[in-house]
Amino acid sequence: MEAAWYDALEVNGLTVSVAILGSTGSIGTQTLDVIRSLRANGWNIEVTVLAAGRRTDRLAQQIWEFRPRLVAVADQEAAEDLRRQLGDLRGMEVHAGQRGMQEAAAYPSDVVVNAIGGAAGLLATWHAVRRGARIALANKESLVAAGELVMQEAARAGAAVIPVDSEHSALFQCLLAGRREEVEAYVLTASGGPFRTWDLDQLRQVKPADALCHPNWQMGPKITVDSATLMNKGLEVIEAHHLFGASYDMIKVVVHPQSVVHSLVAYRDGALMAQLGAPDMRIPIQYAITYPYRETSPWKRLDLAAAGALTFEPPNEQRFPCLRLAYDAGRAGTAATCVLNAANEVAVDAFLHGRLPFLGIPALIEAVLGKRAVPNPATVEDVWAIDAEARSDAREWLRERGCGP
Ligand code: NDP
Repeated sequence: MEAAWYDALEVNGLTVSVAILGSTGSIGTQTLDVIRSLRANGWNIEVTVLAAGRRTDRLAQQIWEFRPRLVAVADQEAAEDLRRQLGDLRGMEVHAGQRGMQEAAAYPSDVVVNAIGGAAGLLATWHAVRRGARIALANKESLVAAGELVMQEAARAGAAVIPVDSEHSALFQCLLAGRREEVEAYVLTASGGPFRTWDLDQLRQVKPADALCHPNWQMGPKITVDSATLMNKGLEVIEAHHLFGASYDMIKVVVHPQSVVHSLVAYRDGALMAQLGAPDMRIPIQYAITYPYRETSPWKRLDLAAAGALTFEPPNEQRFPCLRLAYDAGRAGTAATCVLNAANEVAVDAFLHGRLPFLGIPALIEAVLGKRAVPNPATVEDVWAIDAEARSDAREWLRERGCGP
């Protein structure tokens, strides 16, 4: 795949078509920054597809600038709203709902950037890998919910899944230093989030606004809360398991509050390869699009002397049980990780709406995980069924405690 991609770029003179799914979000808008920068560097990049949920004002502005051939939004209401704002669409296709997302991912683009939030992104990942596209994957929930199926389908169809998540991009780059069989451990770094030093009494008082202030990264609300509970790191452990075919025993987590070292690969001779950089998602986004090329970028460089001391400490699983829940679910199998993900999405939503306390998030997830034994999914339809059942169990748990909507 890499060699073919390299040749294709040479032949086409850096011509690449890109579909951006989740274009109105944090990763989506930063991907558009990357496209602008690559174009300034002589890349001929066509944005074929823009897809988003319901923020149609922002999407309309993007459409005026990038003139995609196809647009998809979450539902008919958003599609009508978009049509009203855009007026004459001059042949641009506008699709809605799940069918729309399928059309967006299946549209013949060289690269599909999947920056949709949550399990809703699985549909896009699935249809992009099925047609053998390069997928620049930010949507980690796709792999948490259906990692085995997605990676098997990618291998069958010849799709390349290139990570956008900064930690996995770091591991991907560190893996260029050796062979897979020479790897002893994959070490994911975690910032520790805004409550790294808080005790349990303080954690009981956390409000959504506290959790939405990440010390190092500007991200969408769901992943910001996941970072505060350490569930984000748990989801990343499962993501790494699928992306790199690594056993859970080989995947370690270390808290590194400065977020300068993005992750490391430990080799069997004792060498440790790390990838460092400024905390700017546009760097891994660009690499996922241009790999194996490294293109010049205009973003702020890491000044090591100014960064000062880099510190590392073990994660505290007592105060942040979500990490342990994710390891346990990962070891139990894909049905459990699908349940974990669905329960977490319901829990985070309830927390953000002020219906569930911060420490209720792991409590809800643990309860839903323990509710029933589910066989591992054999098809993507099975994944949707497990996801729906887990969400229903999670909502019931909330209602029983008077925290329902
Ligand atoms: P945001 O909440 O900022 O953006 C999510 C995007 O997904 C929006 O464009 C939203 O549309 C769209 N979307 C949500 N639901 C649907 C749906 N049902 N159908 C179509 N579109 C939908 O999230 P982030 O950009 O922060 O995160 C996106 C993904 O990337 C997540 O999986 C996250 O874990 C991952 N990630 C993010 C990082 C970051 O720095 N932000 C870092 C590493 C990974 P709209 O807003 O128009 O409704």
